[in-house]
Amino acid sequence: MMITQLGNIFGDSQVASIISGKELGQQILSELKSEVFAIKKELNISPCLAVILVGDDPASGVYVANKRRTCEEIGIISKAYDLPASTTMKELLKVIHELNNLAEVHGILCQFPLPGGMNEQEAVLAIDPAKDVDGLNPLNVGLLATGQPKFISCTPLGVLEILKRYEVETVGKQVVVLGRSNLVGRPLATLLSQKGWDATVTICHSRTRNLESHVQQADIVIAAIGQPNFVTGEMLKENAVVIDVGINRLPSFDTNKKGKLCGDVDFEAAFQKARLITPVPGGVGPMTIAMLMRNTILAARLQNHSHPIEQKF
Ligand code: NDP
Repeated sequence: MMITQLGNIFGDSQVASIISGKELGQQILSELKSEVFAIKKELNISPCLAVILVGDDPASGVYVANKRRTCEEIGIISKAYDLPASTTMKELLKVIHELNNLAEVHGILCQFPLPGGMNEQEAVLAIDPAKDVDGLNPLNVGLLATGQPKFISCTPLGVLEILKRYEVETVGKQVVVLGRSNLVGRPLATLLSQKGWDATVTICHSRTRNLESHVQQADIVIAAIGQPNFVTGEMLKENAVVIDVGINRLPSFDTNKKGKLCGDVDFEAAFQKARLITPVPGGVGPMTIAMLMRNTILAARLQNHSHPIEQKF
């Protein structure tokens, strides 16, 4: 399912199957749409996500617009809080506190990066952990670290959903996670080493020695470092599963056009070696948004003392 076989497009006999995060994301969104409908019927509430955008960073504007549009597509109410770049930390915290106290708002997302001089950690700490659909509040991070996850940040959750739905075996497998950020690498490595996933996980970062030798041992490679085309075909073990989280924009030679998007993996070379691979764009990205919707629905259910959606973690 959702596997695209490109056959011998690059001329070799050994080629990977491509994971379509776009199709899988759409399938999950249609499941979630039914779930929103069921909640409305059962509990007489509409899940609601408040998205705060501070300033006018163009990339953040695009991400936020996508999130709001997806909410509307599946029946989640989206509340927009667009604040000017001149907003002070005190004003932002006031908005967050108001949203914490609004019963009809189930999830709060503050889009990062915040404009220079603002303290992101302070914003994360201010969000009520029960509405922390980004899974960044230390309470949710602690629950995850101790094996009782509630809100898992959306990108790691999206990666796990890919592995689950594509039936990628993780038990006893060697997983290498490239990147140790609190947003992606670290929660992924923590979850995959926990019971249920049972992988043997190695985290690599900018100070790792002989990084290639770690990657060469890996049955599953997850790249989240923000370095274009960093993982080469030679680094990979034959038949590895490759999940590319990275989103990088290459320089453009045409001043009127944006450069091409690429991941952290050299796709064409990795495609020759891997068994399964995610493309960029159209791989992990669409899953991240779908998981934000899922966390918002989970928040709405939990705040209304209802059963959460069935999930493995
Ligand atoms: P961060 O910049 O927070 O973290 C990057 C990590 O990669 C750090 O741990 C860093 O190591 C490590 N790293 C950087 N360069 C190297 C290198 N040359 N060799 C080994 N390790 C290296 O990034 P994020 O985790 O937030 O994001 C990672 C990528 O994922 C980005 O491209 C981002 O755009 C993308 N992303 C995609 C999402 C999606 O929905 N698809 C969502 C979120 C992020 P150290 O700790 O030593 O500095």
